[in-house]
Amino acid sequence: MDPADSKPMLVPAMLMMRCPSCRKSHVFINKSIFPLSELVFLKDECEICGQKMKSEKNNGGGINYALTMILFFLNLCWYAPIFGISYKDNSVYYYLITSTIIVLLAQPYLMRLSRIIYLYLYVGFGNSRRVEI
Ligand SMILES: [Zn+2]
Repeated sequence: MDPADSKPMLVPAMLMMRCPSCRKSHVFINKSIFPLSELVFLKDECEICGQKMKSEKNNGGGINYALTMILFFLNLCWYAPIFGISYKDNSVYYYLITSTIIVLLAQPYLMRLSRIIYLYLYVGFGNSRRVEI
């Protein structure tokens, strides 16, 4: 393998929504999350390596649920030390409202991320090259 063909790192590629096989090309049709109706639309195949993106029907719903729960927990981690949570007043409700707003705002990104994680589970690095040759 020559240096120009080096392997981009897994996690940054995942967070940047890159193709699971070559980790260079963007996998979504729209780079921006708008319009929201086309948020999770994937390209048919990668323009660099030709990896097929629509090999499965799953939209990562289960992973999305897990990520949402993780985000609720992470919100608890910063909210509790700063504002404090107690059962004696309404602070639990304030936390839930704040957390829900944050989760809703992050939801477009989480939906994409869960789809990407699902793709990465099924498509390994260099997957498309094996098929071509
Ligand atoms: Zn690719």
